[in-house]
Amino acid sequence: MASKIHRASEIHRASRNFQTISANLSATEVPRATDVSDGRWDDADDFQVKQAQKDAERLMKKTKAPEKGSPGNLVSLSRKELEVLAVKYEQPAYRGKQIFDAVYKHGKRSIVDIVQVPKAWREDLESSGVTLGRSEVHHIVTADDGTVKMLLKLADNRVVETVGIPSKRTSDSKQRLTVCVSSQVGCPMRCTFCATGKGGFARNLEPHEIVDQVLTIQEHFGQRVSHVVFMGMGEPMLNIPSVMAAHRSMNEDLGIGARSITISSVGVPNSLQKLARHDLQSTLAISLHAPNQQLREQIIPSAKVYPLEALLEDCHQYFLATKRRISFEYTLLKGVNDSVEQALALAKLLYKFNVAGHVNLIPYNTVDESDFQRPTRAGVEAFKNALMKQKIETSVRETRGMDAAAACGQLRNTFQKTPMAEEVIIETFKKTLVA
Ligand code: SF4
Repeated sequence: MASKIHRASEIHRASRNFQTISANLSATEVPRATDVSDGRWDDADDFQVKQAQKDAERLMKKTKAPEKGSPGNLVSLSRKELEVLAVKYEQPAYRGKQIFDAVYKHGKRSIVDIVQVPKAWREDLESSGVTLGRSEVHHIVTADDGTVKMLLKLADNRVVETVGIPSKRTSDSKQRLTVCVSSQVGCPMRCTFCATGKGGFARNLEPHEIVDQVLTIQEHFGQRVSHVVFMGMGEPMLNIPSVMAAHRSMNEDLGIGARSITISSVGVPNSLQKLARHDLQSTLAISLHAPNQQLREQIIPSAKVYPLEALLEDCHQYFLATKRRISFEYTLLKGVNDSVEQALALAKLLYKFNVAGHVNLIPYNTVDESDFQRPTRAGVEAFKNALMKQKIETSVRETRGMDAAAACGQLRNTFQKTPMAEEVIIETFKKTLVA
């Protein structure tokens, strides 16, 4: 893997390493960094981001509905695609609908369990290497407030986190269930406050691996997922094709309203224009975390190649193209970006670019190997009030039990760094729970 290298002169060597190691891996894998360190964004980072984007395009070509006799995964395929698959296997089209219902309504985990379709066809599919594409649940951690963090083991033994967040609606008594899904195994963006960024990047997730997270949380809670946020591991805008395919499936196949799906991004050059073309009714949440370029670059190293003003101009253009108001995420780091003066500077900046809609404040949760601290409750209130006085709708994200138990990426880092030997995993897992 191209390790984290901070000198441009070493890029060529990094690139060579990438190619050499790639040759030893299966076609779906992008090698992962093993020694990510903090520091300024450089050419090696750009290289890795571009590789992730290229890999995302290549993945999409690979994840089309399987041909007869070819391997593939059925989760994330539409009803129409499953009906076409049935016909290719000389089955009546309604057999495809039976698979559709088994996957999305009944949450079946394997083809052999879909007893509604003939055994001979199930065996035919399995011998061709067709699977539903469900991931194995590796570990589950449940917080006192009912939030559940799961570690899912993918087909290539990598692990990815997903979180189920149950909550009560205030207007009626129905329970709302939100899933925070991951879009990549790891992440190449290196945001300084994020455990996922510190764990390095492995590869993009395929559509079935994203939709599977929703199915698994549904299965665990025994109720339908009402909301999805793409705020788990990974930068969704580096994996747009798979994220869009998963979005379609969640919306059309699982019946989750597009307005109940939020896609989050820290900002990737040229990605908002691409996203706008999909004309989604979903919310775009941009992670800002700073009111000026200098501070933002310290918190989000990748901001160096996507200046704050360029990002906000793209946000404005996104709003003009989609008429969808953008939500801005702002993680409050004590003594770094949480002063009233910084709140006023943020308000001024948002008004300057005509995007002063909604700001969601996230009091920081401590991450291993990070010096950042959580702000005081009074500090959070003061920041919020300063924004609201400027007539900016502001909310503070509720800290759920799971935030305290393990920040995004921590659980996965614990396991992915260790060999997947069960006794080692159980030991480290116990330590995580105690901590
Ligand atoms: S905050 Fe998001 S974009 Fe930044 S490193 Fe973490 S997962 Fe990646």
